[in-house]
Amino acid sequence: MEPTIFEKILSREIPANIIYEDGDTLAFLDIAPNNPGHTLIIPKVHSRNLLDITEDSWLAVMRTARKLAPIIKEAVGADGINIAMNNEPAAGQVVFHAHVHLIPRHEGDGFTHFPQGKYEDGEAEALAERIKARIAN
Ligand code: AMP
Repeated sequence: MEPTIFEKILSREIPANIIYEDGDTLAFLDIAPNNPGHTLIIPKVHSRNLLDITEDSWLAVMRTARKLAPIIKEAVGADGINIAMNNEPAAGQVVFHAHVHLIPRHEGDGFTHFPQGKYEDGEAEALAERIKARIAN
């Protein structure tokens, strides 16, 4: 399979503004930032996204996110920071090597959040039971 653009960044085949690397992860600035400092963290071991990533890779990505979030926030003078991940095209994923976004946020930066809906009577309870039954299996 043709390596994704992020694997090419990992192998240094194409350039990126890499800000951090350890044995399991690489972090670099997103080329089209939502706000300056927008960072992508990738695992070194290939996975497509959250749906197939190994526990070890995921924990490594989260360890890097926790390490970098306060540093990036301070570096860009942000008021907050979002952590986001798009998994599969329906959820907005366009690069198919797992990656987590760290997005610095500023009061009044104008970004809106996902729209919120509401459940019909009993719908949430039934859905919770359906999910719990799958977790138990
Ligand atoms: P996603 O929609 O979660 O798959 O996001 C892919 C992200 O990768 C987007 O935010 C792009 O701006 C970013 N991106 C694509 N190519 C590059 C690149 N060469 N270097 C840095 N970021 C990139």
